[in-house]
Amino acid sequence: MTTLPQTTEKKLGLVIDLDICVGCQACVTSCKEWNTSGYSAPLSDQDPYGSDPHGAWLNRVHGYEIGDGETSLTLHFPRSCLHCEAPDCVTVCPTGASYKRAEDGIVLVDPDTCIGCKLCSWACPYGAREYDYAQGVMKKCTLCVDRIYNENLDEEDRVPACVRACPTGARAFGDLGDPDSAVSKSVNDRGGFDLLADFGYKPVNKYLPPRPRRDSNNGANTPFLESTAPGANGAQSATDRFFAWADRMLAR
Ligand code: SF4
Ligand code: SF4
Ligand code: SF4
Repeated sequence: MTTLPQTTEKKLGLVIDLDICVGCQACVTSCKEWNTSGYSAPLSDQDPYGSDPHGAWLNRVHGYEIGDGETSLTLHFPRSCLHCEAPDCVTVCPTGASYKRAEDGIVLVDPDTCIGCKLCSWACPYGAREYDYAQGVMKKCTLCVDRIYNENLDEEDRVPACVRACPTGARAFGDLGDPDSAVSKSVNDRGGFDLLADFGYKPVNKYLPPRPRRDSNNGANTPFLESTAPGANGAQSATDRFFAWADRMLAR
């Protein structure tokens, strides 16, 4: 059992805009490249060009087609650790290898004390933890802690590798604990939402919903957007149901 800090000085995280993500995978490959050659030990690949490829990826982007015909919507869904405020992946850890930093809220794994028991990956409802079979330890998004404070990098590079690489600006980094930060304002302006909020993990990362289609008829053909509001009587919204379905499909 590992304890969490009572509060954190900052809530650093990502805001991901589902409206403008085009599913190009640039963030995925940039994340892999940075974290494979960075300080936190290589990310393995097993049988990468064979019949049963497998490997550790700290960021994955999944594509979905929602609906049919004129009302259909293609949605690209980037998925990485959400650096939750109340994450069971930390509290279940028997060795203290998983921890949440009090200074900025980043959730990390210490590879030197991780015993590879995988309890944390069972606890994470977002499927955000990646077991590294080559090294026998758990890995996850570090929010590029080795970039954002790195004074050896040019100032414009002191952001996560995925944010730096995104050609559409679909990923933004900042302090979601500061209501005046650009990321907090975008969440406020666009109705940003928590993924699977009912679990109570209080994810720091937020998602911005797709905007109405330009050819829509008073929004009549934007089924995904229409369903982002909470259902009546607290019923699970269609957005939540979609992500719950995605989580069931993707969880390992
Ligand atoms: S796999 Fe490692 S980080 Fe995860 S719960 Fe076990 S010891 Fe902790
Ligand atoms: S913040 Fe860094 S480690 Fe996390 S998904 Fe982005 S590139 Fe990968
Ligand atoms: S780089 Fe940006 S646009 Fe491309 S998949 Fe990642 S978030 Fe989406």
